[in-house]
Amino acid sequence: MDLKSIKGIGDKSAALFEKLGVYSVEDLLEFYPRAYDCYNEPEGICNTDAGTVIAVKGKIASSPQMAFGNRFKILSAVIRDEEGTAFKAVWYNMPFLKGKLKTGAVYIFRGKISYKGQNIIMEQPDIYSIGEYDKIVNMMQPVYRLTKGLSNKLVTKAVRSAINEYIDDNDYLPGEILKKYDLINHKEALINIHFPTGKEDRDGARKRLAFDEFFKFIMVLRQFKERDNGQSNEFVISRNELTDKFIKTLPFSLTEAQTKVLAEIEKDMSSKRTMNRLIQGDVGSGKTIVALIAMIDTALAGYQAIMMAPTEVLARQHYEYIKKTVSDNNLPFEVAVLTGSMGAAARREESGKIKSGKAKIIVGTHALIQDKAEYDNVALVITDEQHRFGVKQRETLAFKGKNPHILVMSATPIPRTLAIILYGDLDISVMNGMPSERLPIKNCVVGTDYRPNAYRFIENEVKAGHQAYVICAMVEESENVEAENVVEYTEKLRKAMSKDIRIEYLHGQMKGTEKNAIMEKYAAGETDVLVSTTVIEVGVNVPNATVMMVEDAQRFGLAALHQLRGRVGRGSAQSYCIFVNTSKAKSATQRLDILNKSNDGFYIASQDMKLRGPGDFFGIRQSGEMDFNIADIYTDAEILKNASDAADGIENGDIIIKADEADRFDMEISKCYKKANDKINL
Ligand code: ADP
Ligand code: MG
Repeated sequence: MDLKSIKGIGDKSAALFEKLGVYSVEDLLEFYPRAYDCYNEPEGICNTDAGTVIAVKGKIASSPQMAFGNRFKILSAVIRDEEGTAFKAVWYNMPFLKGKLKTGAVYIFRGKISYKGQNIIMEQPDIYSIGEYDKIVNMMQPVYRLTKGLSNKLVTKAVRSAINEYIDDNDYLPGEILKKYDLINHKEALINIHFPTGKEDRDGARKRLAFDEFFKFIMVLRQFKERDNGQSNEFVISRNELTDKFIKTLPFSLTEAQTKVLAEIEKDMSSKRTMNRLIQGDVGSGKTIVALIAMIDTALAGYQAIMMAPTEVLARQHYEYIKKTVSDNNLPFEVAVLTGSMGAAARREESGKIKSGKAKIIVGTHALIQDKAEYDNVALVITDEQHRFGVKQRETLAFKGKNPHILVMSATPIPRTLAIILYGDLDISVMNGMPSERLPIKNCVVGTDYRPNAYRFIENEVKAGHQAYVICAMVEESENVEAENVVEYTEKLRKAMSKDIRIEYLHGQMKGTEKNAIMEKYAAGETDVLVSTTVIEVGVNVPNATVMMVEDAQRFGLAALHQLRGRVGRGSAQSYCIFVNTSKAKSATQRLDILNKSNDGFYIASQDMKLRGPGDFFGIRQSGEMDFNIADIYTDAEILKNASDAADGIENGDIIIKADEADRFDMEISKCYKKANDKINL
């Protein structure tokens, strides 16, 4: 449904909403707050920490004064709280308030506190009458992700109208499911996630909405699976002599785990049925080489193999590595690459090689499928560090009529019981164990005062011929700010470090070609320190890098931090990870301590799950791979199991859908199915 059908949203605000990824009324309803603001009872202003936002009941003590600064008109008034403490309220560019603020009048003032010498200042306070404030006190107000020109007030209003105008009380979920899994009604959940009156409300809403996400996902996955079941193998591929020879020339011998997983893959590819397999292996366990061997087998059998990566940086890296390896070993085929940022000429050349079948191994981003590239005979499709579930179908459909083997590689450590649900359509290979000559990464969690030492430490590692990453403070509000942050931090670092240290930066707002160039320079050892956002979180392999320093570490999910840490410890040298904890909260220290003590992804995930309750869902960025909107596979594992159980119940008739519920239910599920299908057929 068109966003503009909502009262108050015209072309201009619709365009702004699009910037936030909100294109329809449905998107808006699912545009959940990123945090909540709580309007506390008014309190005394005495002893309030600078930076805190508080509400104070106060009397205007003297008539407001206007001053003219360079850029602002500044209005100020002295106010006395109920205990008699005086403070100064200051407003910029709001001269019209002057007439409103009468000496002796009592209001609730709510704003941020700062200090100027002995004086208490309240900046830009909102002003409420006692009655007005009574109505909102203790309510949680939603705080949304915003973009320039779009205010929180406007988003709030739009969401409110969307709920009022478009959502009725009829739930698509059958009553029996709601009862069995203790879920609230859908409309109630939407109201309570956007406008909760308290934490309990919000948690109940969240539980219901997370259930929905999982449940719909599982239902769609099952429909896909049913449709694609039992494909017979059109591409029987077995181990080639040249592959054996290739494995012997590797600079290392395969680990036991690699050998085991490779055997499972080769058994699949030579069997009667098409392969649909997930490799789950911790960061650094060596998945790439396993994938490459499967691709070489495929190429030597005369077919094409495709490898897709979620980012341009990662795709480039795989391409460079594979191309070099193939040519070093004189293997009798070409390697091609396709990514979004390639120029027209290069693209034409690569496409030609792909279409003619000259290129047998093809590496790229999703451009490989989305641009309707033409292939000769694809028999194997590999997705590395994939962003979404249910990928298998998307890849399959892209090769209409033919069913290639599918291999999905993931470093996200999900407990087996959950993996079986989430990757319901795939067989699972677990690749545990690291290459043996690796030294375990040494970790430390430090406060901000340790920074100078960390910089010296990095300098010393660089002097010893190694490289380092510094991951920059994360900014939730906007990607633009995040980019600015990286640039600023880089400046700071250049000043703090000795001149001959070569420091560069990388962030998500840079163009694809620019990112590639920076990354290639770093991989070639021409940059010593790379300052970056989490764009390098996934997959990047520069074995010469030995230090990972993460600023504001407490703001990342443990899974993401584990991924980041996985960028070092990839070679034979000792590597180090420095987590800078900028918070004093005990919970932050506790969580980081888990990482400090262990380098094992599965262990970390299980501990994380224990520490974080389902309530802790804001302010922590999840690992990109599991991008449900509100649900979190770790902390919501129980809900995930319930959703799977409900899907089972419907399948085997244990859960009865009443006649008057069936239409709504079927309609909603087929809508989801269609949506997923549309995505596939881009
Ligand atoms: P990931 O599983 O995180 O994708 P990679 O495949 O990128 O890990 O491998 C990480 C590093 O380990 C690479 O530099 C790779 O060459 C190296 N490597 C892979 N297998 C082995 C092995 N059996 N012994 C030693 N090093 C290995
Ligand atoms: Mg990898």
